[in-house]
Amino acid sequence: MKLGNSASLTRIYNRSVVLDALRRNESLSRIELARLSGLTPQAIRVIVGDLMEEGLVQQLGRRKGLPGQPQIEITINPNGGYALGFHIVDNWCHYLATNLAGEVIVDGGTIDLPENPSALKPHLDRIDRQAARAAGKSPRVGVGIAVSNLMAAGGLIEPHPENRAYTEHIQRHFGPDTFVENDANAAAMAETMFGRAKSREDFIYLFIGDGVGGAIVRGGELQRGHRGNAGEFGHIVVDPAGRICHCGNRGCLYTYLSTAALKTKTKQTAARDKSVREWLSKAIPALRSAVVSLENSFDPERLIVGGTAPVELLKTLVAELNPLGPSIRSDAPERVEVSELGPTTALLGAAALPLLSLMSPSAAKLTKQSLSAATSGAGEPSC
Ligand SMILES: [Zn+2]
Repeated sequence: MKLGNSASLTRIYNRSVVLDALRRNESLSRIELARLSGLTPQAIRVIVGDLMEEGLVQQLGRRKGLPGQPQIEITINPNGGYALGFHIVDNWCHYLATNLAGEVIVDGGTIDLPENPSALKPHLDRIDRQAARAAGKSPRVGVGIAVSNLMAAGGLIEPHPENRAYTEHIQRHFGPDTFVENDANAAAMAETMFGRAKSREDFIYLFIGDGVGGAIVRGGELQRGHRGNAGEFGHIVVDPAGRICHCGNRGCLYTYLSTAALKTKTKQTAARDKSVREWLSKAIPALRSAVVSLENSFDPERLIVGGTAPVELLKTLVAELNPLGPSIRSDAPERVEVSELGPTTALLGAAALPLLSLMSPSAAKLTKQSLSAATSGAGEPSC
């Protein structure tokens, strides 16, 4: 996305205000859009006209059953564009493509990462063709990459050297509208775009998988902290006498919640059940303690647990958390929720990054700071 003078920056911002309102409300009339956005009816007419011409929004028809002149409903055109998402984890690169509504149009699969990153090219060419075919004539909005194992030490975050060459290669291949994010932040953006937080802007996300991380979302935007590392919930100390963590502290949440040692993939039921029971017996008290700390620290509207761990495991974990200790949020009807997006949430989140860049009004849009620049400098440590 090219950014120009302040008038065009304002135009880009106002377009995203309109797209954001439509994304959150399914469909709205022009009058409702004006009321929700604070823009004049005339400005809304021009913006909606431009967006329709570009195929990003469409008219559904006249709304019936209401008093007065029936109003024409406007909605996001699901097939007005598509996004590609990649999730690089261990030696694998998972990929998919979604349309503007978040419907998966290419449930891609997995590439075994080649030793030489440039050997990715034929794979990327094939994925590009596959997605373009599935999307018909609609254009690619952008590409997102979620990466685990980013290094936090020493300030603003760079992808881990093992992953950096691959992310850079994908960025070069697809061009400037390619966004890089750590997998916990990407998963939180999947909740914002497609999941439980679609209409709720303030929430805390706890990512559980082989790594344990998190994200803080305020006003629909990721809170990154002074050096870009905010949300490192995996290193909240829940037992100062606990096992030593790779970060150097003892008893970090990571040492209890990481699923790396879980034998969930074994075919032996008895071994799998024993492994899960052992994991739960340590994870439940550790998470109880962390939930109270997170609630007292952030007073979130929602606290969502997700990640690459199996959904059933997360549901069991959360179901057995009660009774939780008191906090400033003790009266919340549901103190901890499990994401409904499943273990591919970071991958979905990767695809959500360019979609949110298009559809979310961000202060960055008014200050010439591109989202790709903002997001490429943040992430989580190697855990
Ligand atoms: Zn730690």
